[in-house]
Amino acid sequence: MSENSSSSSESAVITSALPYANGEIHLGHIASTYLPADIFTRFLRLKGLKAYHICATDDFGTPILISAEKEKKSPKDYVEYWNRRDKEDFESLGILFDFFHNTSSKENVDFVQYVFKQLRENGHIYDQNVIQFYCTYDNKFLPDRYVIGRCPYCNAENQYSDLCEKCGRVPDQILEPKCAICGRPPVKEESKHYFFRLSSFEEKLRKWLLSNTHLQPDVKNYVIKWINEGLQDWDITRDLSWGVPIPLPEAEGKVFYGWFDNHLCYISSLIKLVKDRGGDGKRFWNESEIYHFIGKDIIYHHYLFLPAIRLGINSEYKLPEYIPTRGHLMLQNQKISKSRRWYIGLKDFTSAFNPDYLRFYIASVVTYSQDDLNFDFDAFYERINNELIANIGNFINRALSFTQKSFQGIVPRPSSIDDTIEKELAATVDETGRLLSSNEIDKSLKRILKYSDYMNHYFQTNSPWANKDTSNTTLYISVNAVRSLAILLEPFIPFSCEKIWVQLKLGSGSTVHQQVWESAKDIIAVPAGHELGKVEPIFRKIEAKEIEQWKNKLGKPQ
Ligand SMILES: [Zn+2]
Ligand SMILES: [Zn+2]
Repeated sequence: MSENSSSSSESAVITSALPYANGEIHLGHIASTYLPADIFTRFLRLKGLKAYHICATDDFGTPILISAEKEKKSPKDYVEYWNRRDKEDFESLGILFDFFHNTSSKENVDFVQYVFKQLRENGHIYDQNVIQFYCTYDNKFLPDRYVIGRCPYCNAENQYSDLCEKCGRVPDQILEPKCAICGRPPVKEESKHYFFRLSSFEEKLRKWLLSNTHLQPDVKNYVIKWINEGLQDWDITRDLSWGVPIPLPEAEGKVFYGWFDNHLCYISSLIKLVKDRGGDGKRFWNESEIYHFIGKDIIYHHYLFLPAIRLGINSEYKLPEYIPTRGHLMLQNQKISKSRRWYIGLKDFTSAFNPDYLRFYIASVVTYSQDDLNFDFDAFYERINNELIANIGNFINRALSFTQKSFQGIVPRPSSIDDTIEKELAATVDETGRLLSSNEIDKSLKRILKYSDYMNHYFQTNSPWANKDTSNTTLYISVNAVRSLAILLEPFIPFSCEKIWVQLKLGSGSTVHQQVWESAKDIIAVPAGHELGKVEPIFRKIEAKEIEQWKNKLGKPQ
């Protein structure tokens, strides 16, 4: 495991891959990208870093245009609706962005056009007449997703012309093409397109990949394998009305391909955010550590295309130090699919369950790897009831309610503090911090559970109900340990931690954001004589029948 906490940077830019402004956010979205990014950002803030979490909706592309037409909305109104809705969905799970922008914003359009002009000046763009698929039945050019066929690399059938989901590569020319709307074979028409010379960046990309020790080795290895096989230049043009216009007089009616403009929105959004706060966005970007959180389906785009474009403008905006890449979420061991109606909308879930339950469950199963993970209702039920509630919830509630009952809610004065307790806490804070710095979310949560388990044993062994002479010390230590847990757990279960602060009567809401990670080591932070707030259980157990209802509602994939 790499030790990444030695970084000297005091600021960080964390980006989450952009969701298409074309439908609701579901459980599959959040597991690989948004929740890990949110947990990580919250942790960096507790460590005292200035960390900005950036995201935006990806507004362009043919599917969005078609959906807007179907709903008789302008594409602009359509994407504005989904931008608002997506942000609300994320917030319902406590996933907060410092800025949630959109790729159709003026800031992004201007920036994308600027980058294109720079690339062209630097000789990285050329034009070429290409044969485009055109459906005479639907009267449309058929870019990307609108042509399906056989992958020339792995021979998988029914793959999109812009991405083979089987082998993860971007086909140069799809075989046996069909119109995805009507299924008819398309005709070919000529059109002038602009290409990005990705092939000329092979050596520079290889060098960057090999020199960046923060990238996950397995991902890096197979990206290098792609380079060894030879990279294709990218056609960055689409014959569409909805997109960032190509800023050349002879390119009227043509726009950029979505993957040319969308990742540039990480930068354009950050520039706007920092500018609105009176700062210099370019400087902030270049002085910060850059993290791009993604799912494994967009490795090609983030490990090759994105860095090549930045290299092509002479690294005016630096390349990422980290690209945390994770696998997909399965639902009940089956691939999530909106078209087969096999998914759960995030808002549906968070309106039925405490959002921290989903955060806790995902955090406890999400590895720092490309392995797929699984959402299983029975495992969810058990983890929440047996780990979150029976371990963490139990300790917090016992410590606070016993203080309430036996000391009228006043934290008692301790006699002597055993330093093994202090050492265990310090070790927990250090190890959890080290694991979180290395993006090992599941392991860091396990380390906190181990500490909570230790405190449950401590409480049980010292039995304050039986040992009146030592109960003052036991309760003093325990109440302080509850405060430490409220800091350590904040990245994972922020809603519940706010409740803990209220019950500790140490302020609420923003209190935790003023806390510092290291201060979780303080076993004497809550003084003797401090009066607690109203104490009640933080969590409610999930009932078996709730799980059965959800399973029935979900049914089977269609
Ligand atoms: Zn393939
Ligand atoms: Zn057609």
